Amino acid sequence: MRTLIKNGLVVTADASFEADVVIVDGKIDAVSRRASGAVETALAGLVADETIDATGKYVVPGGIDAHTHMELPFGGTFAKDTFESGTKAAAHGGTTMIVDFAVQPKGAALRDGLDVWMAKAEGNAVLDYGFHMIMSDVNDASLAEMDQLVAEGIPDFKLFTAYPGVFLSPDDHIFRAMKQTRKNGGMIMMHAENGPVIDVIAADLVASGMTDPIGHGLARYPILEGEATNRCIRLAEAAGVPVYFVHLSSRDALEAVTAARGRGSMAFAETCPQYLFLSIDDMGNGFEGAKYVCSPPLRPKDHQEDLWRGLRTDILQLVGTDHCPFDFEGQKELGRGDFRKIPNGLPAIEDRVDLLHHGGVVGGRISRERWVEIASTAPAKMFGMYPQKGAIAVGSDADILVYDPNRKRTISAATHHMDVDYSLFEGWEIQGASDVVMSRGTVLVRDGQWVGPAGHGQFVRRGRSDFARLA
Ligand SMILES: [Zn+2]
Repeated sequence: MRTLIKNGLVVTADASFEADVVIVDGKIDAVSRRASGAVETALAGLVADETIDATGKYVVPGGIDAHTHMELPFGGTFAKDTFESGTKAAAHGGTTMIVDFAVQPKGAALRDGLDVWMAKAEGNAVLDYGFHMIMSDVNDASLAEMDQLVAEGIPDFKLFTAYPGVFLSPDDHIFRAMKQTRKNGGMIMMHAENGPVIDVIAADLVASGMTDPIGHGLARYPILEGEATNRCIRLAEAAGVPVYFVHLSSRDALEAVTAARGRGSMAFAETCPQYLFLSIDDMGNGFEGAKYVCSPPLRPKDHQEDLWRGLRTDILQLVGTDHCPFDFEGQKELGRGDFRKIPNGLPAIEDRVDLLHHGGVVGGRISRERWVEIASTAPAKMFGMYPQKGAIAVGSDADILVYDPNRKRTISAATHHMDVDYSLFEGWEIQGASDVVMSRGTVLVRDGQWVGPAGHGQFVRRGRSDFARLA
């Protein structure tokens, strides 16, 4: 099977150039630049099984969302998107790969959790997928298991300073896990908020009669994210290892990462669309605010431009979604009368690539090359799958978007593909959308219609982070 994408503008993390792209059996076989002054590239006369005309469009590597939670059990319910519905929605929005989080059940082996998540994804995901491993117990057995998982292509382990009694790991456990990655080449990812202190503040708020969703935002001070971020950075420095912060949301945490990188530490971080585009103001309006409950919470509006600055200056390397959708009706409603019982999580997987184009490129905050980098190439490098993923280059998987930078669309729960009954961005008109979404050379979405096969996704074994490698 040979496909030719012609007349497009190839945009990579490095440069933009007029070129035709040939795909053979799912891999990029040639990238042929148009000579200056020429109307066509050397490949224009090539006979292909399918030719896609990308005149006036970008040809970019498909988005990689390295932070998703399909079917995650949380607060007595489950995140609603399955690997099938969630990856399908992701594809509609220009994402061609996800890295989800498998969860170690407390008291069981890492392997037990991994097997469960593998089974959920296999044959159901329509996009290629990898896994990070959430460690619920750090002990001699799970530390030894880490080495085995790294060898099997699951090299990242997430720990929490939040959620006491559920996911929280004390400092000595975090430090032991970090020391293990120094030996096995893996990487520790941190959810950094001071959970025990937040619980004190949240209990005080509820006792004082503040039970609405806004209480969730008020209890989780930015300073408590800054404190935990700095603490984890210092632990990583003591262990001599890189560390990665998921869903960095506040200026306070950004300052901690900025200082760490300034002194040469391998501290890395992502932010999420919700922190770039929404604010704590969205959590008002009575119980409607439950739609916006996630952790860390949405921050005061003035944090947003600091996060964009972080993306521009590479203090933040990439954007993931933390996609973890719960219906407003029947799920978010579990927290009526006590914000602490609202399931934490937001739907965002379908809108990440386009929102970053709209707010970033159209909004004049980042270049189109940086957009490709934070949406695709940096996640591939950060999580050890570059250049198989995240590149328009000979030999790479043909995970490609033909992207219309001018098309406008209106976001709405009535038209989105995520299995959730509301949208965070209801009624927003944004500019930029994918005309064609291709995974390993197979067209999955064309002009907004699903045309791909079921269960197309494959597990991707990943290696050591390019960003954490010194030689
Ligand atoms: Zn998450």
